[in-house]
Amino acid sequence: MASNAHDQYRERTTATLLGRSVAQALHTARQEWRYAGECGHSETDLSCELCGCAQVRYWFEIHNAVNGQRLKIGSECVQAWMQAAPGLDFERVKTDRARLEREVRVQVQGDLLKRAARIDPWLKRRRRDLQAALETHGTLTPKVREVISKVLSANANAGAGASAEAGPDAAT
Ligand SMILES: [Zn+2]
Repeated sequence: MASNAHDQYRERTTATLLGRSVAQALHTARQEWRYAGECGHSETDLSCELCGCAQVRYWFEIHNAVNGQRLKIGSECVQAWMQAAPGLDFERVKTDRARLEREVRVQVQGDLLKRAARIDPWLKRRRRDLQAALETHGTLTPKVREVISKVLSANANAGAGASAEAGPDAAT
């Protein structure tokens, strides 16, 4: 009988993993699984197919080399659980996760820059250079991010006077 959340997590993931594996002992079942670089990020409600956690942001698809089964799992399960799987290239998971995080950051900061540049002439003049720097370095400087955030919050406070293009923040 599971006594706490951690035990329940272990029981749940063990049952799922054994159900999808050929070997029926945990340490041999784990050896059947591989990671081949299939991964991504999700903005919608994606559930981890190993533990059932409903809010997976970064997913990694692992496959069973013996029976061809596939599982799309969250990065927490990769770390907490699959790290002990010898066939799973954990360094590759870490590299891919860092790349996904960078992609999300560039996308989010790029969107904010785009919106702020519609409002602020200083940002508008520099937008192309800032976007290039963002893509090169994977982030904008703290100073630029502060300017963007001030521009957008001042615009949100201005309320109905904001341009219709300014996005959902202007509706508050
Ligand atoms: Zn999970």
